[in-house]
Amino acid sequence: MSKPAFLKVVLLGDGGVGKSSLIQRFVSNKFDPSLFHTIGVEFLNKDLEVEGERYTLQIWDTAGQERFKSLRTPFYRGSDCCLLTYAIDDPQSFQNVAMWKKEFLYYADVKDPDNFPFVVLGNKSDLLEERKVNAEEAGLWCEQSGGLPYFETSAKDAVNVDRAFVAAIQRVAALN
Ligand code: GDP
Repeated sequence: MSKPAFLKVVLLGDGGVGKSSLIQRFVSNKFDPSLFHTIGVEFLNKDLEVEGERYTLQIWDTAGQERFKSLRTPFYRGSDCCLLTYAIDDPQSFQNVAMWKKEFLYYADVKDPDNFPFVVLGNKSDLLEERKVNAEEAGLWCEQSGGLPYFETSAKDAVNVDRAFVAAIQRVAALN
């Protein structure tokens, strides 16, 4: 059996949108509302199979990185895909998705920016009453940004989290 393909996955987005929670849900299938950022743990690994191919994902969280801007280059470099995350109850975090994408492309130094596998996540989809970004608006932005896949996720209720990560892997696989 061939070795699993290794992929570096980075989650980016404003602090508080749920990046750590999404990773915890995806890797351990848990949600811990009192999850705190563990300084020093920069990534988690997860093995999985998609369409008959085995992958080892190394998933990087920006935990606190919003505050440590000088770490951006090593953090982003060598990424195979990037999950741009906002929270549906936080319009500012949606506005900032474009900024995170631009910043990622600048620092990650990717070969083909137009075809880089981004996936956009509108997290906290369980907070329907507090929704401030509508799905159509987000979907339109993704379409206009080169047809990026868009998922509304809930790390809390385990909605679409696996699907979003799998979509990112499929985007990478489609490039090869
Ligand atoms: P990060 O700073 O982007 O890594 O965000 P965290 O994962 O630390 O989450 C920030 C806050 O949002 C925490 O209080 C989480 O419990 C909460 N949170 C994360 N994901 C969800 C979700 O899907 N739904 C709801 N309702 N809260 C969430």
